[in-house]
Amino acid sequence: MPQNMLKNIKWLGHSGFAINAHDKIIVIDPFQIKEIVPADIILITHSHYDHCSIEDIDKIKKPETVIVTEAESAKKLSGNVRVVKPGDKITVSGVQIEAVEAYNTNKAFHPKTNGWLGFILTVDGIRIYHAGDTDLIPEMDKFETDIALLPVSGTYVMTAEEAVEAVKRLKPEIAIPMHFDSIVGSKEDAVKFKKHLEGICEVELLS
Ligand code: ZN
Ligand code: ZN
Repeated sequence: MPQNMLKNIKWLGHSGFAINAHDKIIVIDPFQIKEIVPADIILITHSHYDHCSIEDIDKIKKPETVIVTEAESAKKLSGNVRVVKPGDKITVSGVQIEAVEAYNTNKAFHPKTNGWLGFILTVDGIRIYHAGDTDLIPEMDKFETDIALLPVSGTYVMTAEEAVEAVKRLKPEIAIPMHFDSIVGSKEDAVKFKKHLEGICEVELLS
């Protein structure tokens, strides 16, 4: 049940999440985190400072931590770094990780040619999709996900309305809004997202 997985998913603010997979802690895009969560696996979607934050990564990195990211972010990072591109599938400490496309279609901040990332992780058979910084993209039609973490702020990524369309394509059981309350976007975007999906998809606003 994807609902049972919710207790293992913690929002760290902005696009940052910590996911508890048994004895492994997976952290995605930590930024301005208030809580130190020592991570076994760190996933970085792309090299923008609010996603690839060296300061935050250093706070949670252990000597044995594996970092999975794209080429440009990898240049800024040290330690056990694995470079992936959209379409790649790897298994780290028993966690299946799929790198998927993330890019803009109606603005220029995240060009498709950069090979920046979203991730689909499988934990206990539940597929958790972290979209990264993206617009609504045709690849979403083929992503299989039970829980979708989607940006809703607009400006650099999807607006709340576009994220609603993304949910209709992805058909997850649960959607969680992200990428607001920090640099761009506000809680209102997240609330709008939830409201538009009433009767369509369960939306969890994490705090
Ligand atoms: Zn970005
Ligand atoms: Zn961003």
